[in-house]
Amino acid sequence: MSEAKTEKRAARRRRVLGPVALAAAVLTVGVGSGVAYAAVTDNIVPTANYSPRCIDEGSEPDANGGLCLTDNTAVTYYADSSGDNMLESNDKAVVNTVMADDYNPTQLNTSYDSSPSFSGSAETDVIYQEGTRNLASNVLGMAWCNDAVTSSKCDQAYIRIRPGYYNRGITCHETGHAVGLTHGQQASPRLRQNDSRLGCMQTPVPAGATLGANNRDNINAAY
Ligand SMILES: [Zn+2]
Repeated sequence: MSEAKTEKRAARRRRVLGPVALAAAVLTVGVGSGVAYAAVTDNIVPTANYSPRCIDEGSEPDANGGLCLTDNTAVTYYADSSGDNMLESNDKAVVNTVMADDYNPTQLNTSYDSSPSFSGSAETDVIYQEGTRNLASNVLGMAWCNDAVTSSKCDQAYIRIRPGYYNRGITCHETGHAVGLTHGQQASPRLRQNDSRLGCMQTPVPAGATLGANNRDNINAAY
């Protein structure tokens, strides 16, 4: 999903509030005992305001692509180490930090896959690239699905981030899209795009933004 185009897509994809989304949206911190879900908004697909279909977009992003959940809780990832999409070592270090410090503490278990798989039924889940190909001039990064396995789940997501912008915030943001997190205007209830409670799913995203409690709780509820 492109950072510049998401709101228009969200407007095209509104749907009737479903029972699961409603339950997620109305649970707040301190309501009831033993409820671990403390999110301020439901911002993982499908939400009451955004339920895109997960589609194969191939090796390049498709303008009609939506957001997908990843297909399992064991999230393997790889950073291109050669060729046009190569990440420098400092960029890889950022990716490792985001996966270890933002996503691994959630219900997802992240691990680096030094022998990535690009075909079959157990592909490496997230492939990070650095580059500008097919990124509009105002877009810092994109995430898209390369292999949809159902209408809601993806076996392999790609993330491409513009050179010079591989920071904690944008890496956490695009990884969030790769596991199904949305922007504030696609959440239910809707939040301003730059509401700080969205953590790294704010847009524009602060360079140092981290996952934060709202995104963590939504991931844990979805997986
Ligand atoms: Zn985004």
